[in-house]
Amino acid sequence: MTSDQLSFDRSHLWHPYTSLSKPLPVYPVASASGATITLADGWELTDGMASWWCAVHGYNVPELNAALQEQTLKMSHVMFGGFTHEPAVELGRRLVDITPAGLNKIFLADSGSVSVEVAMKMAVQYQHAKGGRQRSKFLTFRGGYHGDTTGPMSVCDPDTGMHGLFSGFIPTHHFVGRPPGGFSAPVDAAYVAELEEVFSACAAKCAAFICEPVVQGAGGMHFYNPAYLRIVNDLCTKHGLLLIFDEIATGFGRTGVMFAAEHAGFTPDIMCLGKALTGGYMTLAATLCTDEVADVIGQSEARVLMHGPTFMGNPLACAVAVASIDLLLASPWQKRVSTLSENLSLHLRPAARMGAVKDVRVLGGIGVVETHEPVDVAKAQAFYVARGVWIRPFGTRIYLMPPYIVSAEETRKLCRVILEELESRSQDAPTAAPGS
Ligand code: PMP
Repeated sequence: MTSDQLSFDRSHLWHPYTSLSKPLPVYPVASASGATITLADGWELTDGMASWWCAVHGYNVPELNAALQEQTLKMSHVMFGGFTHEPAVELGRRLVDITPAGLNKIFLADSGSVSVEVAMKMAVQYQHAKGGRQRSKFLTFRGGYHGDTTGPMSVCDPDTGMHGLFSGFIPTHHFVGRPPGGFSAPVDAAYVAELEEVFSACAAKCAAFICEPVVQGAGGMHFYNPAYLRIVNDLCTKHGLLLIFDEIATGFGRTGVMFAAEHAGFTPDIMCLGKALTGGYMTLAATLCTDEVADVIGQSEARVLMHGPTFMGNPLACAVAVASIDLLLASPWQKRVSTLSENLSLHLRPAARMGAVKDVRVLGGIGVVETHEPVDVAKAQAFYVARGVWIRPFGTRIYLMPPYIVSAEETRKLCRVILEELESRSQDAPTAAPGS
């Protein structure tokens, strides 16, 4: 990239959550392969982010390249209104096969946020068709993240999300505290009582409960006991709400099982998938629902599900998603994720002794170091890049979600650099024994 191109970028291109008057630094990338991202000047970075959690097979994957090339020669796109094609049908088949039993109906959306919009519209249309016209609100955990378009934004955490900024514009919904932390932590009776109370107070106005099962991602990398999902499911049944699982971040093996719903052991009414669906090659998402949800929508006033984006079922995206799912299923992904998990635990654990660190936690292929003070992202990132790793913290969370194909040595390096950065800013002496 030329300096002229970089300066155009700084003056004209918005990057995620940045200002064009005071842009944060960006690093020009030339290529990526395996778990390595190569910058324009040849400097190599080991990837700890899987490009915001989607590149589970790493980059420049021969099978995915081939699927895309073959499909390009047949057709890159045709409208899905009135047409269908093999890549969409084959993707649909695979999604029905691998998702929890009963999720048989699929809406192909163009991004994670759009799939959440669709899920919310499905729930509202379902309730209206059942005579519940007053049920147009949603209930959700605090601390969640579901995307940046209007519907999803309205069910993101009301404090750390953008509710204040967009008040008056986004609809208001109902929130209950997030489940207490810890995948294996015992169920907290006081919290269950709080859940029951909130359901009793507002469920009659709600179409559905929406949540990220087991891991709240961008809302704080918070892990919780799947038993709470079973309790929420029972409450939804009791109060006539649908249950939507947003598995955009957790889907396709990230938590050690194919879908986080498997930890809970039941099928939600609606499920959103995205991110790793195409192995990080193209934007594509899916909203799945049960036959019952689809049947009721079919009997609604509109008789149809009222959504239909231009790039719905894009053949290139569907073809690469089919190849990505096949590659995942043919790979030893469980072993890879459990090895990654062990390595993250082993190499991040020493951070728990540092004064700057509040908590270290690992679940599946997700490793999190939570600090007391917010991280200076630009400064930390410069430190990481200089040492050859790509990590992008947010708030007080420094986390790793590498591609599943990352080697043990690469994982060790990612963790080591996190520790070095923490050491560089905090000279605090050890305060506690490891694991205490
Ligand atoms: N839901 C969850 C749980 C997510 O993590 C994200 C993206 N980080 C989204 C929805 C939104 O997806 P997208 O960025 O593709 O719109």
